[in-house]
This record gives sequence, structure tokens and C-alpha cells, in this order.
Amino acid sequence: MIRFEDLVEKVKAYSPDADVELLRRAYVFSAFEHRGQVRHSGEPYLIHPLAVADFLADMKLDVVAVSAGLLHDVVEDTLTTIERIRELFGPEVAHVVEGVTKISAVRFSSTEERQAETFRKMLLAMVDDIRVILVKLSDRLHNMRTLNHLAEEKRIAIAQETRDIYAPIANRLGMSKLKNELEELSFRYLEPQLYESLRARVDARRRATEGLIEQLRATIEAKLQEASVPVIQIDGRIKRLWSIAQKLKKQRIELDQVYDFIALRIITASVKDCYAALGIIHQTWSPVPGRIKDFIAMPRPNGYQSLHTSVISDVGMPFEVQIRTLEMHRMAEEGVAAHWKYKEGRVGDQNDERYFQWMRQLLEFQQEVRDPREFIQNLKVELYPEEVYAFTPKGQVKAFPRGATPIDFAYSIHTDVGHQCVGARVNGKMVPLRAHLRNGDIVEIITQSGHRPSRDWLNFVATSHARYKIKHMIRLEERARAIDLGRKVFDKELRRFDVSQKGLLEGDLFNKALSDAGVKTLDDLMALIGYGTLSAKQLLGKLVPAERLRERPPDGAMTAAVKRAFGGGEEKIKVRGSDDVLVFRAKCCNPIRGEKIVGYITRGKGVSVHSATCPNVMNLLYDPERRIDVEWEKAPGGEAVASYTVKLSMEVEDRKGVLAAVSAKIADINTNIRNMEARTGGDEQLARIDVTVEISDVQHLEKVIRALKSVNGVVDVERAGRVQGG
Ligand code: MN
Repeated sequence: MIRFEDLVEKVKAYSPDADVELLRRAYVFSAFEHRGQVRHSGEPYLIHPLAVADFLADMKLDVVAVSAGLLHDVVEDTLTTIERIRELFGPEVAHVVEGVTKISAVRFSSTEERQAETFRKMLLAMVDDIRVILVKLSDRLHNMRTLNHLAEEKRIAIAQETRDIYAPIANRLGMSKLKNELEELSFRYLEPQLYESLRARVDARRRATEGLIEQLRATIEAKLQEASVPVIQIDGRIKRLWSIAQKLKKQRIELDQVYDFIALRIITASVKDCYAALGIIHQTWSPVPGRIKDFIAMPRPNGYQSLHTSVISDVGMPFEVQIRTLEMHRMAEEGVAAHWKYKEGRVGDQNDERYFQWMRQLLEFQQEVRDPREFIQNLKVELYPEEVYAFTPKGQVKAFPRGATPIDFAYSIHTDVGHQCVGARVNGKMVPLRAHLRNGDIVEIITQSGHRPSRDWLNFVATSHARYKIKHMIRLEERARAIDLGRKVFDKELRRFDVSQKGLLEGDLFNKALSDAGVKTLDDLMALIGYGTLSAKQLLGKLVPAERLRERPPDGAMTAAVKRAFGGGEEKIKVRGSDDVLVFRAKCCNPIRGEKIVGYITRGKGVSVHSATCPNVMNLLYDPERRIDVEWEKAPGGEAVASYTVKLSMEVEDRKGVLAAVSAKIADINTNIRNMEARTGGDEQLARIDVTVEISDVQHLEKVIRALKSVNGVVDVERAGRVQGG
């Protein structure tokens, strides 16, 4: 068991000026908060944070990290809040503890490799300070070392998570020593039988092998000395069981056939000496073809540098040799942690520059950073700045570009889920569809069958996938709408000339009309009429000889007679909300849902819908044949009601408080104000207030007008923008 005083000594040894007081306060606080708690081993809980802090001190990290190690479980496991940590230990320690608490809360639930990769990225994306990851990895290492105290089910879950997520993260950060131990421990708990049998067999040969290692070590030492190649250290070891197991699996061989389970490592003082040593090794023993690897010239993506070779010993046994400088060795063992040590104000030297290059590559850091030293000193790193990761309620993780919304999430599940999305709960709370997702959000999409995507969605979706699907759906819908509209307009034209449709849409004339228009089907033709690129009259002219076309006089009585003849009149065109390009509300009168309306077939822009009381309708009546019946489409149940903006103009008494009373009244009846303007200085002590409000339908509008008329000081209210003629 680690004693706190030993930890202090360890920290002081690499950082004489360290804030030991901070450490001590963190220790006392952690001890107090975790008092009475025990681990599964039966030991006091405090053992765990102490061990974690000790690992961090082994990495020679700063007191902030070591203190955060002592406090890392306090917020998660006790009643202490992060605010309290901030108060007591400052923003830096609190930030690291908060980060660790956040990533510990994320539960990994799939062993699928692509999921695991996304998951690792997500964890890293949640981290803006590398110390968070280092504390988390130390936490995981101690938990893995003490895993045997847990129930089997939990053991397996934790070991699997370690193998899939944390060991690869350690690897990615270049921390091979930590990665190796995590892998080895995962192996032990995930495949206990294989692990034990392998261990027994390796142990049986251990003494002989150890003798061989010592012999090879001595030979190498002598040969290098003879050639005057200075070395710092040579050591040999039996390879880890996990890497032997991997080899067995990959090469489909038995343990007896695995000869190169010995590895020797030569640490030199310079790169030049590495290559010199490699030459000596190859002069002494025969290299195995294809096994020479120069990771010095071509470092691995995580920055690893070394020379690797396999040679055959005098007794015919292959073994591996790794050669690298001390600096490379330190980097290989500790990775990121090697660079996050106490700097004590020592501003980065050339190594820092090189390290920064490496770090950039390692972390795929994509943003421009002007001063690399500042970057390192701040210990801040945004690993994947462009991405955000969110979960389905079942724990499946999905990656999105920053700025992604619940709509993007819905489309990533399934196109139909996207189309039918009407709402979203994020972390259990309803959010607007345009809300931005954040890392770790759990997103639940609410759908309603028959719901259709809104054109408005295109203004805020972040993925091209969602954008494409929405556009595609809107285009399909628009075409269906255009066909429908085209048919109705064409039918109306047929009635106008009293032409029967029978036999009209077939035969040579019809086929010629199709090819003239450059389309293939009747639907295409009707769509052209709906879009306004072909007029119904033009089409009729192609299908019926001119002499047979005689226009019925625009007589009201006559129209009624025709309606009777056709049995029940024309089918009405449905008017939806606002995002219909073919049937649109006229700007002059801005009719709203529930109001009496009339449609007018424009030339080339579809049908414009006017309020029945619109003064312009009087003018339109001069061409009554272009009128067409329209009605409001019933809103599907539960759908958010479309809102219309309506401008109201009020005459009010010019005195204090009226404006405030008006806005209070509007807020009172839950109506949004888009814009409000007041003008004063009228002759008769009157002023004018113009207010633009969001209205759902005509009843709502009437309610607002009634409410405004009841305000003390309001003389008159009228709907603006409906008076101009022409
Ligand atoms: Mn812990």
C-alpha cells in the first residue's frame, strides 16, 4: 500500500518546487469524502485514488494531475459537487476531475470494431486537456490490477472495455508500457483458459529461456564493445503472453513452434549507433528475411521509433532485436506522458518543436496553432475539433460534424426516421430540432408516421446525407403536388371549353403533345402544367382542333349548371402551410389558416391564394376563369401548427404606458412578437403602434385583436397591409 508521504517524496524528487500543500489538501479531502467506503477487496477506498495518484507521479506529471488523481472519484462517488472542487482546489484541478467524471459516465456497449473506433474518438473528443486521459488511464490500470475482486460478469465487461477502448487509446498516445499491461490483464480476464495454459507452458521453459537470454545479451555486449559501438543498456525478456497468443492465432501454430518469444533490446546514445549496432547484429547472426523494419526513418503513426530485426541464433532459434536511442525508448514507453512532465518554466527547446510535430501527427490535430510552446504549456488539446459524438438510447455511438442537429441524427438512423422526425429528446429533455448536439448526448428521436420533412430543415442540417435525403423527398413531393395541381388546372380548362376528357389523352395527337413537350408520360405533362411551364390552354390547343374549341361564357348561372352536370363541382386544391412553392399565399393579403380563401392560377407560378376579402380579388374577378377553388388542408394531428406573421396596426392614445400595456397583453395570450414600432405626434393626441405577431390561424388572430381592443388606451386595431388596391 502506498503511503501519502511516499507520494509527496516522489513528487518532490522530480519537482522540488511543487505545491505540496495542494497535494496534501487534496489527500485530506479525498480521505474525508471517501471515509467509510470500501473497495470490493475489503480495503479502504482511499487506496484506489492513492494508487492512481502514484501512477501519475511515476509519469512525473504536475501537481494538478496528481491532485486530480487523488480527487478523481470524489464527484462520482460522493455528494461533493464539481463547484466545491473548483472552490477548494482551483479551476485547473476541477477541470481535470470534471473531465474524468464525464468520460467515466460513458458506457461502452458494443464489441464491433467500427463502433469501438468511433467510441475511442469520442472519448478523446470529450477531452480538452490531455491530463484527463492520463488520469483516466491510471484509474483503469489500477482497476485492472485489482480486477480479481469483482464478480465475473463485471470483470469481463471491464476487461472488454479495456481491450477495446483504453488499451488502443494508450497505444494511440504512444504509451506502450501502459498499453502492454492493459492488454495483458485484459487477456487474463477475457480468455482465462488460454491465458493459463500459455503461462504454464512458457513457465515450463522459463529457466532454459532465461539462460538463453542472458547468453545472447552477453554476446551482444561483447560484440558491440569489440566494434566500439557505445551502448547504454541491453536487456532481454520473454515476450508478453498476449503477443505470443496473437502470434499463435495469426500463424496458426502451436507454442512449440513459436521460437521467437524472446526479445532483446539495445539502447544506444545516438541514431548513428543504432544503425551501427544493427550491422553488428547482422554480422553475428543471420537475419530472417522480411523481418527488418526501420521505424527510425519511418516512425509509426503514434510516433514510435526503433529498428527491429529477427535473427537466427547459433542453435537455430530465431529471436527479435529492437534497437533505439534512450530518447526513443522513453517515448516508446511513456508516449504523451513523456512530454507532459514538470517543465518548471523551462520553455521548450528543439525537442519540444520536434515533439510538437509528432504530437500534431499523433493526435491528428488539425487546427492552426501559432505558437507550439504555448500549446504545450497550456496542456490543452482539442483532439478532434471537427467532430461530435452522440448516442442512440441503446448506446450505439454515431459521429457527426460539429453543428449537427437531431435531424441529422434521425437521418443517420434511417431515412424514414428522418422524414418522420417531429421532435427529439436529448438526455431526457425535449429540445428544438435545430439544437446542436454535444459530445456524449443521448438522443431519442420522436417520429410520427406520415410526417414529411420541412424545407426549413435545409437551413440548419449539418450532414450532406440529411440534406440530400430532405431535398430528394421535397422534390418528390413537389412533383406529386405539381401533377395533382396540373390535373386540376387542366380539368378546369376542359370544363371551360366543355370538352370531354374521353379519348383525349391517347392517340397520335396526345403522343405528339408528349414529344413536343419533351416528356414521356401523362404525369410528366401534368407536372409541367403544375409547375407553370406549360399552360393548360396550350395543351388543350394541341389535343383539340381549334374549330371545335368554343369557350363557354363566364356566366355564374352557367358555371353552376356545369357544376351540376359534372356532379358535385370541382375538386378543391389543398393549401398547406408556408413551404409550398406551387400553391402559395398571396403577399397582398397574407391569408391565414381558417380564413375564407380563393385561388387564382397565375401565369407560370402556380396558384396564388388570397383572402376572400382581399381587394385584389375584385380585380381578379375580371378573369374569373382563372379562379380555382382552394381550401385549407387539415393539419395532421399533433403536428406543430404552422405560424403566419401578421402585421396589426393600432391607433392608441398618446400617453405613457400604452406601449407596455400592449406588449404585456400580447405576451399574456402566449403570442410571439416579431416586431413592434410606435409612432407618436398625431394631431389628436393619438399615436400609432404597428406590431407584427406570429399567428397560428384565424381564431388566434381574432383572439389577439379582441385582446388588444380591450387594452385601456387602444382606440382601434386593424390588420395592416390589406388596404392597397391594384
Ligand atoms: Mn477510479
